[in-house]
Amino acid sequence: MSTPSDADVTAAVDRVLPEVRADLERLVRVPSVAFPGFDHEQVRRSAELVAELCRSAGVPDVQILSVEGGQPAVVGRIPAPPGAPTVLLYAHHDVQPVGDESGWHTAAFEPTQQGERLYGRGAADDKAGVTAHLAAIRAFDGRPPVGVTLFIEGEEECGSPTLERFLHEYAALLTADVLVLADSGNWDVGTPALTTSLRGLADCYVEVRTLEHAVHSGMYGGVVPDALTTLCRVLATLHDEQGNVAVPGLHEAGPTGVEMPEKRLREESSVLDGVQLVGTGSITERNWNKPAVTVIGIDCPSVQNASNTLVASARAKVSLRLAPGQDPEAAMTALLEHLRTHVEWGASVTVTRGELGAPYQIDATGPVFDAARDAFRTAWDGAAPVDMGIGGSIPFVAEFADAFPSAAILVTGVEDPDARAHGANESLHLGEWRRACVAEALLLAKLAPASER
Ligand SMILES: [Zn+2]
Repeated sequence: MSTPSDADVTAAVDRVLPEVRADLERLVRVPSVAFPGFDHEQVRRSAELVAELCRSAGVPDVQILSVEGGQPAVVGRIPAPPGAPTVLLYAHHDVQPVGDESGWHTAAFEPTQQGERLYGRGAADDKAGVTAHLAAIRAFDGRPPVGVTLFIEGEEECGSPTLERFLHEYAALLTADVLVLADSGNWDVGTPALTTSLRGLADCYVEVRTLEHAVHSGMYGGVVPDALTTLCRVLATLHDEQGNVAVPGLHEAGPTGVEMPEKRLREESSVLDGVQLVGTGSITERNWNKPAVTVIGIDCPSVQNASNTLVASARAKVSLRLAPGQDPEAAMTALLEHLRTHVEWGASVTVTRGELGAPYQIDATGPVFDAARDAFRTAWDGAAPVDMGIGGSIPFVAEFADAFPSAAILVTGVEDPDARAHGANESLHLGEWRRACVAEALLLAKLAPASER
């Protein structure tokens, strides 16, 4: 096989980009929301379209697959040339619901370009990821110098409920040496990133009771405690005076190598002027490498229905993000124990465990990561990629790692900080998308054995 230079590969991507842009627009037009209660026929249509686009990109073996109760995924395979590794390219074709349509400036499922951005639900998350893979395959006319397995999932936004079974059932089809999971983002417009750490999650419910039934607050107030105040007091013990998590025994992963300016965090988060930030340590350390605890809902009488009574019972849902390296079971136990033992005034308390998700830290060293950084640097005109953590969780990363323990995992993506994935006016920065497409094609070339290059 001839040796394509970086410039050849880049030119090939630029040549196919108009077709891939058309692919992306077709995908965005399908409202593939896999949430319960939405029209799953659209998820099926979306899977069929992905399969069609894979075939037209030159993938010879394309199947739509699912396991019992799951949404359709697309698996396409290009066999590895002799001696070459196989690279699994993952993205998902389902999208988040639109939410409140009045918040959108353009029709959510009509791809619309304004300036450098393409607006539409899924334009960034994650139909841009799907098309980055198609671009890399099209750039090699369907014959990349490595084996490629495309795996385009159809239920990621619902938490990938059947992914573990799917990976198990189709392990023989999906097994690969390198996994490229294209569902994250880059550090900023102009600066690429590899996502190398993810926080985990433990959430739970705490219910407090102080009375058999609500009673008149004038008759008994000042003597008998109400459940809502009692609940508020225990919730207030979750943080210390500086806003650090006060649940004892939780792991912290220490400083990061990256700084985020406070101004940027304030802009991106929309925190109001005058509101102080909480916690201690650098912003990235607090956001990626320390636990964070949040009260995400309370069941109690609404203000509209409030009467002058002592509330008999109240319940809250508490969400705890876990630092990389934290054992999730131990964190859940610590959270439940903290809540159970900090309820005052002898109130009756019930704590109930909720969801659990493991954090994940990738050891981003070795030749595959060197090749990826090299590809990123070329695609981004010399800008060095950042090893980025994210404060959220992508549960599927740990599931892939469990299913393919010896594979190198690259968590990449096309989103930039202004992509507004999941929100109104989701959009894709088209310049960054092109770079992501180029980087992925370069990566495939760089992963080929030297004799193939
Ligand atoms: Zn996504």
